[in-house]
Amino acid sequence: MLIAGNWKMYKGASEAAEFCARLRDRESELEGTDVVVCPPYTSLHHSVAVLAGTSIAVFAQNVHWATEGPYTGEVSAPMLRELGVTGAIVAHSERRQLFAETDETSALRVEGALEGGLSVIACVGETEDEREAGETESVLRRQVEALRTVVDEDHLDRLALAYEPVWAIGTGRTAAPEQAEEAHELIKSILDAPVLYGGSVKPDNASELLSQRNVDGALVGGASLELDSFIEICRAGATA
Ligand code: PEP
Repeated sequence: MLIAGNWKMYKGASEAAEFCARLRDRESELEGTDVVVCPPYTSLHHSVAVLAGTSIAVFAQNVHWATEGPYTGEVSAPMLRELGVTGAIVAHSERRQLFAETDETSALRVEGALEGGLSVIACVGETEDEREAGETESVLRRQVEALRTVVDEDHLDRLALAYEPVWAIGTGRTAAPEQAEEAHELIKSILDAPVLYGGSVKPDNASELLSQRNVDGALVGGASLELDSFIEICRAGATA
C-alpha cells in the first residue's frame, strides 16, 4: 500500500523541513505502508536532507521529459535525482486543467522520468461534465492508453497510476468506493500497474476506499498537509 502526500504549492523550505522532522519522529507509526511526500521544488532539498535514512521517499510534483535544454521553468529527472529525489507525480489534473498539460505531454513526461530512473505516479481522471455525459470510461481509456504506449515493460515496477476524479479533488466529495473500484479495474485492464485513489481522501473515509480490491494506495492532497491526518491515513493503509 502506497500513500503519497501531494503538498501542491504549500510548505516552503523551512515549513517542509519542520514537517518532515515531525514525520520522521513518528516513522514507527507508518510501518506497513510505503510513504511518499511530494513538496514543491524549492522544498525538495530540505525534505530529502531531513528524511535521509528513513523509509519515507521524496517525490517532485512534476518533471520534464528532456535531460536538459531550453525549457524555462522546467526541471529534469537527472536534476531531481541529483537532489536525492526518487520520483515524481506527472499529469496531475491541476497541471492538465491550469497549465495545458495534454495526454501527449503527460506521456512524454512519464517516459522521460522512467528512463531517467525516477518512480512515477501518473494521474488520470474524468471531470464532472465528462462523468455526467457518460464519458468516464472513454476518458480513462484515452488517458491510460496514451501512457501505455510509452511505458517500457522494464520500467513498470517504478510506475503507479492515480485515479483522481477531477470533481473530487479539493472539493470534499469522494468517489463512492464502488465507483473507485470500477475505475481502478478498468485502468488496470489497460495498464497493469498499481492504482492509487485520489480525491478528498481523509482519515474518516480512507479505510473504506483503501479496502477496495483494486485500490493500491492513495494520493492525498489537503489531508497530507497536517501531520496527524496524514499519519492516520497512512495507518489506514497499513491495515486495509
Ligand atoms: C490531489 O491533490 O492529488 C488531491 C487528491 O487533493 P485532495 O486530497 O485535497 O482532494
